[in-house]
Amino acid sequence: MKITTENRKWLDDFNLSHPLVIAGPCSAETEEQVLKIASELKDSDVSVFRAGIWKPRTRPGGFEGVGAIGLKWLQKAKAQSGLLMAVEVANAAHVQLALEHDIDVLWIGARTTVNPFAVQEIADALKNTDKIVLVKNPVNPDLALWIGGVERLYNAGIKKLGVIHRGFSTYEKTKYRNIPEWQLAIELQNRFPDLPLICDPSHITGRRDMIQEVSQQALDLNYDGLIIETHIDPDNAWSDAAQQVTPTVLKQIFKDLRIRKVTDDADDYNNRLARLRLDIDEYDVRLLEILGKRMKVADKIGALKKEKNVAVLQNKRWNEVLGKMILDGEQKGLSEEFILRIFKAIHQESISHQEKIINS
Ligand code: PEP
Ligand code: MN
Repeated sequence: MKITTENRKWLDDFNLSHPLVIAGPCSAETEEQVLKIASELKDSDVSVFRAGIWKPRTRPGGFEGVGAIGLKWLQKAKAQSGLLMAVEVANAAHVQLALEHDIDVLWIGARTTVNPFAVQEIADALKNTDKIVLVKNPVNPDLALWIGGVERLYNAGIKKLGVIHRGFSTYEKTKYRNIPEWQLAIELQNRFPDLPLICDPSHITGRRDMIQEVSQQALDLNYDGLIIETHIDPDNAWSDAAQQVTPTVLKQIFKDLRIRKVTDDADDYNNRLARLRLDIDEYDVRLLEILGKRMKVADKIGALKKEKNVAVLQNKRWNEVLGKMILDGEQKGLSEEFILRIFKAIHQESISHQEKIINS
């Protein structure tokens, strides 16, 4: 897949001096709700109106979307507000209906991106149309699957592509509804710098009081846009009530966001940055050195355990180490979440080293 600057043209054509904003309810509920939200969002920084028409629900029995009738409401909202319209499509029938109703932007949901059959079906149905298509990350943190989804559309001749980062499911409880795993999206951005990257803080956080913070983080990482669920009466929304904000709150969030430049040409800035980066590079070298030394000690412990036929994993000792590190880390300004992640990774590496030794 060769994504070039040509692919960014659809985004440049919006001619914005700020990131692209897509906003609107999780789900279209009634004609009145759709028209009211769209009318409150016109004349703001919002360029695209979103609404789910077909809703993938984790368990049956929830609200599964109003279906095709909602597309008529969106057509009306488009005529009244001038906003472009975006919906989620999950199969060829959805694509067909969206095309018939002149929907401008189609997005592929997280539960669909995981399924190559479904993505291929959508790509085939869209073949050589000129719609903007945005691919949400799959539910699981699998970069290849995410890229694979984009490739299927690219191979079908779709020229206006982008991706939406909506976070990943985890078994562990975290403060997020879907943990961001920023490094994954950053890697995608590095590999395909001309593939517009949009952040979905609504599905990442699941909580309206965290939308501002996560949107700011995305902008600090040079994201090209935000998609934020917006509802006139969030508490009574038929889906995702806890994470939706009102149009008024959305405008405030946008006002408070600090929009940063990608870089600065001033010599002073570049000199200071270069010096600080030298420091970082040196610390990274030292970190690796220390990790290497630590692993050698782990190997010796492995040899000792082998000699005495003792199991590799020693849970009690490990929990003590972790508890101490969390406390020490806190004093150094390192979050518990970070300490847990980094030490779990180190511990896992030690265990695999020791397993190799014990089974040799
Ligand atoms: C949505 O955007 O409302 C949605 C269902 O999102 P996701 O596919 O990210 O869960
Ligand atoms: Mn939603």
